[in-house]
This record gives sequence, C-alpha cells and structure tokens, in this order.
Amino acid sequence: MFNKEIIAGFQNHKTPFYYYDLTVLDETLKVINDEIAGFNYKVHYAIKANTNDRILAKIKEYGLGIDCVSGNEIKWAIKNRFEPGKIAFAGVGKTDEEIEYALKTGIFTFNVESLPELEVIDTMAGKMGLEAPIAIRFNPNVNAKTHYYITTGLEENKFGINHWELSALFELLAKLTNIKLLGLHFHIGSQILDLSVFKNLCNRVNDYQREFSDRGIEIHHINVGGGLGVNYQNPDGEPIPDFKTYFQIFKKFLNLRPNQELHFELGRSVVAQCASLISRVLYIKEGIKTNFTILDAGMTELIRPALYQSFHLIQNLSKLNDDPSSKYDVVGPICESSDCFGKAIALPKTERGDIIAIRSVGAYGEVMSSSYNLRDKAAVVYR
Ligand SMILES: *Cc1c(COP(=O)(O)O)cnc(C)c1O
Repeated sequence: MFNKEIIAGFQNHKTPFYYYDLTVLDETLKVINDEIAGFNYKVHYAIKANTNDRILAKIKEYGLGIDCVSGNEIKWAIKNRFEPGKIAFAGVGKTDEEIEYALKTGIFTFNVESLPELEVIDTMAGKMGLEAPIAIRFNPNVNAKTHYYITTGLEENKFGINHWELSALFELLAKLTNIKLLGLHFHIGSQILDLSVFKNLCNRVNDYQREFSDRGIEIHHINVGGGLGVNYQNPDGEPIPDFKTYFQIFKKFLNLRPNQELHFELGRSVVAQCASLISRVLYIKEGIKTNFTILDAGMTELIRPALYQSFHLIQNLSKLNDDPSSKYDVVGPICESSDCFGKAIALPKTERGDIIAIRSVGAYGEVMSSSYNLRDKAAVVYR
C-alpha cells in the first residue's frame, strides 16, 4: 500500500489523518460484483462501517444497495444518491419517527427485530395508508466464533426474534393487515474468519425456510447479513477478503427457492482494508518492561483496540526497511489507560517525528471517531 513517494507525501500533512486508497476499494468492489454475477444475489453495503461520502460514491458506482441501522443513516444514504428501494433498515430500537420516515421514503425492507416492533410498524403503516415491506430478523442461535462484543446471533443477544417465538409470530402475521412479508433476515456477528460458521447459518436458514413453506407462506428473499472478516495481521498479503469462498458456501449450502433473491449486508469486508490511520510519534517514553511510543493519534481516531481489544498492524513508515529491533507499547495521548493501540509491538528503533501507520482502519474507524478531550477531527487524505 505504501511506497517511497506516498510516504514522502505524508511529510507535508498535519497528523493524524485517515488515508484512503480508493484503488483498493475499487478492486474489492470489482471482486464482489464478479463473484455474484449470474446469481440472483444483491449486496447491501452496511453503511455504519464507513459513511465517508467519497467511499459511498465509489460503492454507489458499483451498484450496491445499503443496509442502515438508523433513520439518519437512511437520510445520509439518500443524500448520497442511493435509491430508497435498495435500502434495508435493521436495528432493535427503531423509534416512531424513524419508522414514519422510512415508510414515507419507501425503503426496500424493515428488518424487524421483535414482535412489538412488528405491531408498531403495522399500526403506523395503517395510519399512513401504506403497506410496510418487512423481513423478519431471526436470531438463529449460531455461534459466530468471533469476539464476544461483535457476536449477534446467539439467544443471549438482543438482536432478532428467537425460534421459540415462532408460533406467536405466525399468529401475529396472520392478524396484521398493513405489512407485506418479503424476507427472512439473519446477521450473526462480525469479523467472522471461520467460514464453517456460514455453513451452519445456511443450515439454520434452510430450517426456517421450511417452517414458512410448510405454512404456505412464500418468501421473496433471504437476507444473510454480513460479518465476513478481514486479515488484520497481514493487510498487504490479503488486501481483498476471500469473497469467492464466502459466496461459494451460500451457493452450495443454501436452498434458495426458484426466483428467490439472496441478499447480503457486507460492511467491514468492503471497506476495512482501504484505509490507514497515519500519525506521528510525539515522544518515546521509558517504561518498566517496554518503552512507550506516544502517538498524536488516539482512541478518538480509532477506538476498536480499546473497545474490542482488536488487533491492527502498526508500521513505522519512516523506517520501513529497518528490522524490528525493539518492543514498544504504542499509545495515544488521550487520558485513558485503554488508549493503547498495541502492547509490546516489535518496531525498528523509533524516534520522535517518525510517521506511523495503523492499518486496516476503513471499517469502524473514522465513523466511530469522537471529540473526547476536545480533540480536533482528523483530516482525510485520498489516493
Ligand atoms: C453491522 C451489520 C452488518 C455488517 O456487518 P460487517 O461485519 O461489517 O459485515 C450487516 N447487517 C447488520 C444488520 C448489521 O448490524
């Protein structure tokens, strides 16, 4: 991702900043479209991963739809010229205002996460003289084998309708007159690297499909959510996730009915690898076991390590050809002990003023930034 010229160009920039390589995004989107070509598959980009308008313009160019989890995300998607008819709307806590706005706008589906939500949407659609397009989000109780905080498909999680609620759901569906059931929706977690998890998901989806067809209910589409992981350890070795194997699992194990569409909601796997957070070393401070490399970027620009103990590759771009010779705790300037990007990280001998890259920050990076400690918003640089 980095060559001498690019790194030399960084010298003139105020740090920290997010560096987006749009060629990586282009290539990623190309692979996605190549892999779904010829299949009745639709990909919605999960906009919560990154709402940057240049990124969205690229994604729009490739014809993806959008997956939203708030009314403002729907507004932002539409402002960025995505068609309402390609927008799915998930979330366990949709407010009346958000529901009303989404109904008026004419989105693709409400991905409904509870029975009370279904009743509220039905009532509101009735008042507006509309029919609400819905998919039911099920909690399939499939272990995503990922970090606890980004697991969403277990019965103990707050997301989706559980299997034991199924008969109550069928009763309710028979009663409600202002909804149109289009799809079955699932999303079991994020940063999933054990792809057998998606095979388990397919098996559960097949079971759910059967329960609906047994009752003579036709389903227009299945939506299997997102969650495909990326290689945070080696972003240069694997800049594009293995979409081929990912889609093959669904081609092989999911029993689609004739003419049924299969929808995906990919977030992280689309955008994670196209960005790095670029910062400068402010100080090297001696510690007891390892020295500290204190950066001018902190958890305000990238909260993932503090929030989920996530790993991001850290590189000293000023010493890219030197061998790692020392270990450093790489930390930010924020007044929190959790403001740490990595402990005992092997780097070349590092000095004040060196340029440091924290890799794979395109997903859940800029979008989760904050002004805590009254920090300035980091700049953005594109290639
Ligand atoms: C966050 C989210 C996604 C995207 O997850 P990734 O792991 O980023 O692919 C998809 N669907 C729903 C409902 C989500 O909440």
